[in-house]
Amino acid sequence: MLKMAVMIKQVPDSQDITIDPVTKTLNRTQARNIVNPPDMNALEAALQLKDKYGGEITVITMGPPMADSALLECTSRGADKAVLVTDRVFAGADTWPTSFTLATTAEYLGGFDIIFCGEETTDSSTGHVGPGIAEFLGVEQATYIHSIDYQDPYFIVEREIEGAVETLKIGKPAVVTVVLNANNPRRPTLKRKIEAFRKGVTTITNKELKLRPECVGLKGSPTVVKDMKTMVDKPKDTVKIGPEEITKVVEVLYQRGIVKC
Ligand SMILES: Cc1cc2nc3c(=O)[nH]c(=O)nc-3n(C[C@H](O)[C@H](O)[C@H](O)COP(=O)(O)OP(=O)(O)OC[C@H]3O[C@@H](n4cnc5c(N)ncnc54)[C@H](O)[C@@H]3O)c2cc1C
Repeated sequence: MLKMAVMIKQVPDSQDITIDPVTKTLNRTQARNIVNPPDMNALEAALQLKDKYGGEITVITMGPPMADSALLECTSRGADKAVLVTDRVFAGADTWPTSFTLATTAEYLGGFDIIFCGEETTDSSTGHVGPGIAEFLGVEQATYIHSIDYQDPYFIVEREIEGAVETLKIGKPAVVTVVLNANNPRRPTLKRKIEAFRKGVTTITNKELKLRPECVGLKGSPTVVKDMKTMVDKPKDTVKIGPEEITKVVEVLYQRGIVKC
């Protein structure tokens, strides 16, 4: 039986984010919170492995208490267990303590054969956390995968590289990051929604993880935002061209050998 974890992050829906005209900063307060989109693809990849080979899926997020709704969204789609890692001491974490805290959580939960992450988040988009978890755990990793299969004790994954598809065989335990649109995430069912609310969410704090406060949250974050500048969008001139100009452009390309026929 495969023991799987899916790391998910609750993010503001980018469709709802506006720019505050006065402060010129992102206004997230009106934004609906959703599960980071590639994390849904990561969950679906885990669910497909479970459908084929059996197993158990635990969804894990580190975030504020309100992130439990993102976890319930995932258990409504078929994940078996939901774990919220939350503590004031974890707040303000950059990607280093985020990866460290999530890796420690995976160990605290007894370890996993495979940990799925999304390729990156829509709000910070570093793509650091998956590889960070793998490094802290000292396990194999494959990033930007779009498909996965299992041949005990290996996972066979495919990842697109420029102009080709790379197939990798990675040993258990492993961490993979899944690209957006790798698959078609299944919808929640009413029965699963009821089950998800009945099962609820398990909360883990630093009382359980016992991490040194200087290694987590803001204190444990090496990233320092030194400065911030507002980008001013310069209006761009749009030149509309008709069939005559297009013919001239093609002629020039032909003369320069760029277009051959
Ligand atoms: C320059 C900079 C400054 C920042 N400053 C602050 C700050 O002051 N305060 C603050 O709170 N945040 C801050 N952040 C945001 C914070 O670093 C990130 O939100 C967090 O570390 C995760 O990084 P990410 O969103 O880039 O995840 P990525 O590495 O892009 O995420 C990849 C995958 O990892 C998993 N994952 C990511 N985050 C989580 C999570 N929390 N729980 C479970 N799984 C997860 C998901 O599967 C996700 O798809 C800052 C980010 C940057 C780039």
